[in-house]
Amino acid sequence: MYYEGKIYRPWPEANSLLIQTTIGCTHNRCTFCDMFREKKFRIRELDDIFKDIEEARGISPRIESIFLIDGNVLALKTEFLVRILEKITTTLPECSKISLYAGLNDLRRKSVHELKELKAAGVTMAYTGLESGDSETLLRIKKGLTPRQAEEGMAKAKAAGIEVLISIIFGIGGRERSREHILKTTDLLNILQPEELAPMALAIQPGTELDREVRSGDFILSTPLQILEEEKYLLENLSGFTTYYWGDHGNNVVPMKGWLPDSREKFLANINKAISTNPICKEEVLRTFSW
Ligand code: SF4
Repeated sequence: MYYEGKIYRPWPEANSLLIQTTIGCTHNRCTFCDMFREKKFRIRELDDIFKDIEEARGISPRIESIFLIDGNVLALKTEFLVRILEKITTTLPECSKISLYAGLNDLRRKSVHELKELKAAGVTMAYTGLESGDSETLLRIKKGLTPRQAEEGMAKAKAAGIEVLISIIFGIGGRERSREHILKTTDLLNILQPEELAPMALAIQPGTELDREVRSGDFILSTPLQILEEEKYLLENLSGFTTYYWGDHGNNVVPMKGWLPDSREKFLANINKAISTNPICKEEVLRTFSW
């Protein structure tokens, strides 16, 4: 199997086989992200991707889940991606789950017809990064996405029947915009209604633009108490849909996962307990690890 450079996958995909189809991310400008900083976006040769899929068959008699990397795989032309999906489903017919990284803008740029083609060819879930529903925060972190564009992308995914996991970042609004960030993020999520939601506490990656902003004082990190209050607000105010909550990222103060709204009261009890008893709430900043 061929893997170029540093490889990332979402933590819910820990048991999936990774197949690299693209190198890097087409956007590569978010101020908090260094995942693909050293890579210039390009598409792998189809024959090379096919060789990896065949090699996977030789390595394991049963592969049930595949995650396509690198960055926004959905930026690939639909026809090209369909050929990869068909190769997977013919070579590994037992594989029942094929997920990929996709920007909400990539979903938006495809037609519903194209997304339906991808769904029919095997795509089951798209992992997207919203980070915030606050347009000012999105601008500041150079996400290249507006709340309206997120709505358009999500509406197309739903029309095509592709499930979407959305990730958001507690603390990405900084100390001053914590409240606006979480209010607007929660409001937008209630409109988007993702099938799965993955919130994580902000971790500063060394060498990123955000790292420089923190050092210069232009961005003041949220306190651990603010991070917990953001999560509390989110859990109290998500409504009108069912979603799987992946709140167990390693940087989160209270790791927990399960279905919402069923687990809402249990999760809120955990957060309230942490707010009243965890000494971390008296600290100035949350200690997190780099990805
Ligand atoms: S957060 Fe996503 S879209 Fe932004 S630079 Fe990183 S991989 Fe690309």
